[in-house]
Amino acid sequence: MNTGRRITALRAEMEKAGVEAMLVASGVNRRYLSGFTGTSGALLFTPGGQYLLTDFRYMTQAPAQAPDYRVVEHAPEMMDTVKELLAEAGVKRLGFEERHVSYADWASWSKKLAPVELVPLDGLPEKLRVRKDEDEIAVIRQAAKLADAAYAHILHFARPGVTELDLAAELEAFMRKNGASGPTFDTIVASGERSALPHGVAGTRKLQPGEFVTFDFGALYQGYCSDLTRTIVVGEPTDRHREIYGIVLEAQEHALANIRPGMTGREADALTRDVIARYGYGEFFGHGTGHGIGLEIHEAPRLSRHSDAVLEPGMVVTVEPGIYIPGFGGVRIEDDVVITESGIEVLTSSPKAFFATG
Ligand code: ZN
Ligand code: ZN
Repeated sequence: MNTGRRITALRAEMEKAGVEAMLVASGVNRRYLSGFTGTSGALLFTPGGQYLLTDFRYMTQAPAQAPDYRVVEHAPEMMDTVKELLAEAGVKRLGFEERHVSYADWASWSKKLAPVELVPLDGLPEKLRVRKDEDEIAVIRQAAKLADAAYAHILHFARPGVTELDLAAELEAFMRKNGASGPTFDTIVASGERSALPHGVAGTRKLQPGEFVTFDFGALYQGYCSDLTRTIVVGEPTDRHREIYGIVLEAQEHALANIRPGMTGREADALTRDVIARYGYGEFFGHGTGHGIGLEIHEAPRLSRHSDAVLEPGMVVTVEPGIYIPGFGGVRIEDDVVITESGIEVLTSSPKAFFATG
């Protein structure tokens, strides 16, 4: 992993923000900038170098994973060590991740580190994470492949009488056996009327013949997320099932064919929304078209009516329109795509043609 490039980019942003030092304590950002996967510690950037402060449990793992950092076993109170290093470097202003530090921590750090001024930094280092590098895209591609394999596997189990929880457990076990460290979120298996709930986490309901079942899940692989949704009918479908499914599929494919760099999140969202609205189902599509994925399952940019974000090469986003009819059921189809110089590359490849178990 090339953390050197990430460190250089962070330092450039720190300079723009007018801070000569920064403390990064949140797990995902710590991992992104250093490669260190331990669950405790912090990164400290000073004008003279960068430090990974952690405890004795990680004194073998940390230097191996984070060769660009000086690994320091911190004092029982980590802030005592931070204070020492800042004093050595003559630092007066210390940036911190404003979205990840609790009020209690901020208060105690301010007191401990005075007279060093704590400077809240918004969106740092998250803004560096928005465009993925080749290493990251390669890992997300693997995470997407794992989700595809899990979907192919679960189709053998989807039949009337099986519970949603059985299917969720089977999906998650399959992903783990094939290299995932876990699911990226609580697996959604939503059947019948429950498929009209966009976030219908699997429950004890048994699948009935003649209804939709939506699977929405992802594999966490080497720290990165995939996110896949497919909807099928168990048993015999009706014309209504076919009609609604066909509209969502048309909307999703229309977006995949037209999303390109330079577009805003709002324009990308309109690609699916306009198709669904044209068929009169606009009011049944209540969420955004997609979201960024990476180390976290929901990242920037958003593809939604409220998003001014401009799509750039290297961003990885989901495209997931849906139609949800209360009391009947719903359909959502979701793929993961990377924005390229000229358009997109679709990372997930599970079949999307209308499918009923019969
Ligand atoms: Zn999803
Ligand atoms: Zn999603």
